[in-house]
Amino acid sequence: EERLRRVRDRVRSFPDFPEPGVLFRDISPLLKDPVAFGALIDLLEDHVRASFPQIDFIAGLDSRGFLIGPPLAQRLGIGFVPVRKKGKLPGPTESVTYNLEYGKAELEIQSDAVEPGQKVVIVDDLLATGGTMRAACELLRRLEAEILECLVVIELKALKGSEKLSSIPFHALLQYD
Ligand code: 5GP
Repeated sequence: EERLRRVRDRVRSFPDFPEPGVLFRDISPLLKDPVAFGALIDLLEDHVRASFPQIDFIAGLDSRGFLIGPPLAQRLGIGFVPVRKKGKLPGPTESVTYNLEYGKAELEIQSDAVEPGQKVVIVDDLLATGGTMRAACELLRRLEAEILECLVVIELKALKGSEKLSSIPFHALLQYD
């Protein structure tokens, strides 16, 4: 597909970032090119509309999910909910600790972000080990949201992150080995 090709052409790779041995997929060129970024949001919109006739919110993950989630939510005519790194959100929050390759991290969501039963698609730029997305799912589960899907631009297939999401539906526009 032409739109998918445009998106793929604007992802570049940096070896040994942020650590030796990691091949980092950089979406900055995608954000910089309005045609490619428009194609990305189009593709995501088409996917969500075709899959989920009823949806209440897009939830986006800190921090690149904040670049993709709000334009997508606007297209769909729905709201956006941020899932943030620890200590950034005011008021009552739910938080979850999860394991990174080195050490631990914590994600938070505001306790009133969604009502029980509301339907949410969680978006991020990229799924690697799946730890971040799984933690976000745990937060939304605690708020009793109905998670329709975890949706990313890029899946790093070799890391088998989607297996961590067990029964939650998962979709990636692009897959890399
Ligand atoms: P995971 O928890 O699945 O191992 O890591 C995914 C999270 O780390 C996402 O929030 C994503 O933004 C970030 N991340 C990990 N590796 C990469 C990468 O190669 N490129 C980009 N753009 N983000 C990455």
